[in-house]
Amino acid sequence: MNRRQALKMLGATVVASLLYPLLTKEGAVRSWAAPRPQKVDKKAALYQSHPEAGKMCMNCRHFIPPEGMSSMMGGMGQNMEGMNDSMGMGRMMEGACTIVEGPISPMGYCRFYERKS
Ligand code: SF4
Repeated sequence: MNRRQALKMLGATVVASLLYPLLTKEGAVRSWAAPRPQKVDKKAALYQSHPEAGKMCMNCRHFIPPEGMSSMMGGMGQNMEGMNDSMGMGRMMEGACTIVEGPISPMGYCRFYERKS
């Protein structure tokens, strides 16, 4: 390899290493999006895996249902008030939350609950 080829290769390597984080999904998010807000841990949120007086994650505006569950959820929250998580249903269909970290049961509840309108 002569000097010219070595410089070309070095230049290509530097350009690739600079562009790689910007071209990958992770890199794009990291570089151009606002930093992700930190989520609250379950203990601080007073999270529980069962409903509280008919209030449950599945009818909270912060709940992110698991894939395939959102279409089943229309009106489901109202029909399931009074149920608890004794059947393990919440664990089978865990979703997420925009505020609280970790897997979230649709039957759960926490102090940040806000009813979906
Ligand atoms: S804010 Fe609380 S009640 Fe609402 S979805 Fe998240 S964990 Fe459930």
